[in-house]
Amino acid sequence: MVAAIASVASVAARRIRGGEGVATRGRVLLTLDPGALSHLARGRDVVLVTGTNGKTTTAHLLAAALGTLGPVAHNASGANMSDGAVAALATRRHAPRAVLEVDELHLARVADAVSPAVVVLLNLTRDQLDRGSEVAAVATSIRKSLRRHPRTLVVANRDDPVVVATVEGMPRVTWVAASAGWSGDASLCLRCGRQLVAKHEWSCPCGLSQPQADWELDGAAVRGAGVTTPLHLRLPGRFNLGNALAAMAAAHALGVPPGAAADAMADLESVAHRYATVRHGSHELHLLLAKNPAGWAETLPLLKDYPALLLVINAREADGRDTSWLWDVPFEQLPPRPTVASGDRAADVGLRLSYAAVGHQTVDDPLAGLELLPPGEVVAVANYTAFADLWRRLAVMSGR
Ligand SMILES: [Zn+2]
Repeated sequence: MVAAIASVASVAARRIRGGEGVATRGRVLLTLDPGALSHLARGRDVVLVTGTNGKTTTAHLLAAALGTLGPVAHNASGANMSDGAVAALATRRHAPRAVLEVDELHLARVADAVSPAVVVLLNLTRDQLDRGSEVAAVATSIRKSLRRHPRTLVVANRDDPVVVATVEGMPRVTWVAASAGWSGDASLCLRCGRQLVAKHEWSCPCGLSQPQADWELDGAAVRGAGVTTPLHLRLPGRFNLGNALAAMAAAHALGVPPGAAADAMADLESVAHRYATVRHGSHELHLLLAKNPAGWAETLPLLKDYPALLLVINAREADGRDTSWLWDVPFEQLPPRPTVASGDRAADVGLRLSYAAVGHQTVDDPLAGLELLPPGEVVAVANYTAFADLWRRLAVMSGR
């Protein structure tokens, strides 16, 4: 029955491209069979990857690592609610393993359906203020969900106090030191509300403290599972090393040796077009995605090497309508260079840059803005729908 439904849904969705098509296919499946997620997951090892930032990249790294064992079902397009999960499982029906990136607000529902072998919890910070995803509420929902699955292994980031408070006391936890680049949401203890004490490690007077790491970075190597494994990622940034660490721990739990995981992950160059380089006219455009203050804190250090900067910010439903988070990003750190503020909310970005004393021009259309920048390398940083739009236009123009 599910097979027939899947093929009908596939035909229905073939006319729609990319992640939207995947989600449509999933919605058709779930409408025809509300239990499809559970049916399709049965008998497979499913890993759920969740957290505010890094879940798409971590899921891609993990899918590469698990791919060394055989076929993997994966919602690679980033459709990360139940519909995306069900479409991924239906597409690779015979893959014995699945990696599903799951939106933090949908983890409980997906976990209840698929009974995951492993849940990877990367970090929990403020994302979209107007979606009601207050950090404490999200943490509580995830904690309740994990409690219903005592046999699930939780791979959790011990550097994020919110993650530790969410996971503490669970029967099966592997702690990874995946770093927490931004602590704006974690200065208060989620358990007792007191101020955390942050010295070399963080702790709280109530007793909540940083657990011992089972997996940690050691320069360009990973220590875990009793061995030290060299790790050379093509993906940039320290935060991606943290994502890779979590992926290695999860892959190891399903039988992938650390060396094999590291080799498989090293080949990954871009993730859903993020980190991709595109030639457009006289410009070589490097594409980065950052959608909230924590993501920006991790992205800012990557920008220093580029001679020109294009910022593209939208505030559509998928981005969150509220752009006040721009004021939590330390744009003051940006060095002077040709800079353009663009996107639906170009004026908001421009105002923020003015307060940060960053010289810039404001142009709504990002490709028109690009033409104002000198020829050569440009780094573009966009939030969710801005990134998708920019990629679509660049891809159409370059015939990709
Ligand atoms: Zn406390």
